[in-house]
Amino acid sequence: MFVVKVGGSEGIDYDSFLADLIQHDDYLVVHGGSHELNNTATKLGKPPVFVTSVSGFTSRFTDRETLDIFNMIYAGKMNKMLVEKLQGLKVNAVGLTGIDGRLMEGKRKQALKIIENGKKKVLRGDLSGIIENVNTDLLRLLMDNAYVPVLTPPAISYEGQAINVDGDRCAARVAVSMKADTLIILSNVPGLLRDAEDEASIITKLSIDEIDSHIESYAKGRMKKKLLAAREALEGGVKRVILGDARGKAPVSLSFQKWGTIIE
Ligand code: ADP
Repeated sequence: MFVVKVGGSEGIDYDSFLADLIQHDDYLVVHGGSHELNNTATKLGKPPVFVTSVSGFTSRFTDRETLDIFNMIYAGKMNKMLVEKLQGLKVNAVGLTGIDGRLMEGKRKQALKIIENGKKKVLRGDLSGIIENVNTDLLRLLMDNAYVPVLTPPAISYEGQAINVDGDRCAARVAVSMKADTLIILSNVPGLLRDAEDEASIITKLSIDEIDSHIESYAKGRMKKKLLAAREALEGGVKRVILGDARGKAPVSLSFQKWGTIIE
């Protein structure tokens, strides 16, 4: 089986993605919604706040109000948009967050250690964490009965609170737990680029040992998390991770034909 994660960034062609996806068998979908969330949160007078951790990764500061808007966009608009489109294509999709059936469970971060204006700072009140367990029984129950799960953050903490988790790492965790052989991460770039501004500078192949140095040297912003997710997937037994482009006509098929960045 394979897991495909489709991003939430600008320019993604969801109709083409789904029309192509349903030509394949035995998959589940994880999705994001970052661009839409940023827009809606800004319209609602609650613009996004991004913080940088001491280790150099960027994340969304998620207080309760942000989490409520997060649910509106991820669990509401984006998830139901994908499920509706799949239903229109006669695929019996079921949309779930990690809260539902404790599908994706993990530890809430106690505090964020961030860098602000060059200074270290501890930030509290953030509702985010890392997924440690996936309810594979629930996913198998669905898949064994021909339903296609469409999954999205948030996850759930051990205490039963919704927590924001990174979508790419969420997809990696699901792929590991479901023993997927391939994880495809589709976004609005052709793959990992040497120069984020130059689409021709794609790195077509990468080994697991090179991931850390590429996180340092080439990946900026959110691309760092995609590489981190790739490493977590491969370390957990997934055979290959493909970073592909969701703006084209057949992004899943092209990924299987080794377009994009292949990490093995
Ligand atoms: P999604 O919402 O699809 O998960 P993001 O927008 O969060 O995707 O992350 C993809 C973005 O990462 C690209 O749009 C690009 O601007 C950025 N990026 C930073 N560094 C790189 C790089 N080296 N190669 C490709 N993309 C990069």
